[in-house]
Amino acid sequence: MASGDLMDKLVSLTKRRGYVFQSSEIYGGTGSVWDYGPLGVELKNNLKALWWSAMVHQRDDIEGLDAAILMHPGVWEASGHVEGFTDPLVECSSCHRRFRADLPEVEGGQCPTCGTRNAFGTPRMFNLMFKTFMGPVEEDAAAIYLRPETAQGIYVNFLNIQGTARQKVPFGIAQIGKAFRNEITPGNFIFRTREFEQAEMQFFVKPGTDDEWFERWKADRMAWHAGLGIKAEKLRFHQHTEEELAHYAKLAFDIEYEFPFGWKEFEGIHNRTDFDLSRHQEHSGKRLEYIDAATNERYVPYVIETSMGVDRTLLVVLTDAYREEVVEGEERVVLSLDPRLAPLKAAVFPLVKKDGLPEIATKLHEGLRKASVPSFYDAAGSIGRRYRRQDEAGTPWCITVDGQTNEDDTVTIRDRDSLEQVRVATDKVVGWLRERMAGR
Ligand code: ATP
Repeated sequence: MASGDLMDKLVSLTKRRGYVFQSSEIYGGTGSVWDYGPLGVELKNNLKALWWSAMVHQRDDIEGLDAAILMHPGVWEASGHVEGFTDPLVECSSCHRRFRADLPEVEGGQCPTCGTRNAFGTPRMFNLMFKTFMGPVEEDAAAIYLRPETAQGIYVNFLNIQGTARQKVPFGIAQIGKAFRNEITPGNFIFRTREFEQAEMQFFVKPGTDDEWFERWKADRMAWHAGLGIKAEKLRFHQHTEEELAHYAKLAFDIEYEFPFGWKEFEGIHNRTDFDLSRHQEHSGKRLEYIDAATNERYVPYVIETSMGVDRTLLVVLTDAYREEVVEGEERVVLSLDPRLAPLKAAVFPLVKKDGLPEIATKLHEGLRKASVPSFYDAAGSIGRRYRRQDEAGTPWCITVDGQTNEDDTVTIRDRDSLEQVRVATDKVVGWLRERMAGR
């Protein structure tokens, strides 16, 4: 399958099944932001819940936070974003379309839109932060920014959290939230958008132990993605070169996935040194040191950051799960999602609309819902079509109530991937599903 084909197919499948819609579609869409529909929001929530569980619930040394999107403008002065959060921008002299000057398709000087040669002049630096005003006066003194990363909310709360949670270094703070970047060239579906979500964790360590912690987090994060069932051969690390390394970073690795449009980053692991806390200390005038109660040592901790794009990781998950195959002479499209991520865990079908089967199926479906097993009831169309719809939606198990159910109170459960069918007693279905929902 050509790479463009796969992306087109994903965009169309995710729309058809209610995963992702273009924002403001009835107005022609925006192209740079997307909305998550009924299945999309479930998938996204499941991904975030797994991350939160691994980062916060399963550990004693990481605390959670939900900081506001709007922050004091001084934060972005201190962090270096006002001065340096820029991309080089060029404009075509003929069609006036604007591009990031460092895109490979622009570097030769030819406009990718209208084809004009030597189309671009000297790049100018463009700040990616969205600017707005706090309060009713639109003046420079009231200017604030939508946060371009969630990390700064963590740094400014470092001492609040360390003190109230009684944490000792090393410890971390995790946060999931929206971030905004006025990207010059958004694109590739939900890969690069102007509004997106990040799941970030900042781990505060004693200087000198940072290299060791970096290695631990690097390995840990890769293992987490592999644990979601992402194909190992599609995942790799990329170490930032001197030129790529941010001014504050000592060491940085990206976790990359081989998307249909090439190997691209979807999570970064960075050794940010004591840059952020030191800068906030300077700019706010407040001490942000850690005092080691055992030794009375004072120091500004180093930070190891793990920064995952939620939407980009969703694109990884969807791309990796998409499969086309021929089964029993019929083509099918499957989203082979890990059961923990799948929006619907089960679908319940009465084989025919008679002999009391719809009533039994409805009862089973309602029982699943009450037991918090997301389920979908479908009595419409042939059984084959009902299977296909659920395969596309990524539902791991389809349960069919048939003639035999009336005789021995069992149902058929079909596995989305292996297509194996087993008969399970109706009152054992919840337990059977729960066991398998916990992971493969
Ligand atoms: P890129 O080089 O692709 O612009 P970046 O290096 O600026 O990314 P970071 O600042 O390290 O990215 O952000 C951490 C993560 O946030 C990225 O790995 C990515 O998953 C996500 N992210 C960053 N920018 C966007 C965006 N415009 N749209 C969607 N996700 C994004």
